[in-house]
Amino acid sequence: MKTISQTAGVLFSGGQDSGTCLAWALETFDRVETIGFEYGQRHDIEMECRLDMRESIRSSFPDWADRLGEDHVINLAGLGQISETSLTRDVEIGVHENGLPTTFVPGRNLIFLNYAAALGWRRGFSHLVAGMCEADFSGYPDCRKETLDTQMKAISLGLDRDYSLHTPLMFLSKAGAWDLAETLGGETLVEIVRAKSHTCYKGVHSELHSWGYGCGECPACELRSKGWAEYVDQQK
Ligand code: ZN
Repeated sequence: MKTISQTAGVLFSGGQDSGTCLAWALETFDRVETIGFEYGQRHDIEMECRLDMRESIRSSFPDWADRLGEDHVINLAGLGQISETSLTRDVEIGVHENGLPTTFVPGRNLIFLNYAAALGWRRGFSHLVAGMCEADFSGYPDCRKETLDTQMKAISLGLDRDYSLHTPLMFLSKAGAWDLAETLGGETLVEIVRAKSHTCYKGVHSELHSWGYGCGECPACELRSKGWAEYVDQQK
């Protein structure tokens, strides 16, 4: 893969998708910074996992370690205060009357991109990398490519600078995301993402299953375990 000799900012939550995106960015750009958001998530485990995963990638991939720059954590507590969702309040995981999951945090991805772009303004990067995916998940309207393209157009106009958003997982299934991790970093990266990332909506991080940590029952765990099973099946 040809390296782009510029810096990228990766929206890095500590989950499977953003962990794979971090590896993709490290393979693609010659310098990479990571960006996390504290928005009043009910579970702190994600924030712990992101540092653990960064360090594992750094120690296992020397070429990438040279490219991995600062980590930034941006406080968006106000978003948690105005969001009544299963990720920010004690709301049961389910589906609203309008068909959207209760895990949907309204405005979240749009706000994340604005803040990432504003950070990039100061840090001197205009490439953003994020794990949004419209192929295999949930109907979150802010993961749609059309939403993101439109948002990035507004950001580029509003900051008077050409920003690019890269979403390497956009049209991949969850099994496809594991394939991409394997292509980028072999079994070592697959194992880091499997054992170091956190995706479970309930914040359960006590037992390591074949597909990773989690409760095994929430929609995120169901999707993750199903994707892992498909990935393993493909290899037989
Ligand atoms: Zn779960």
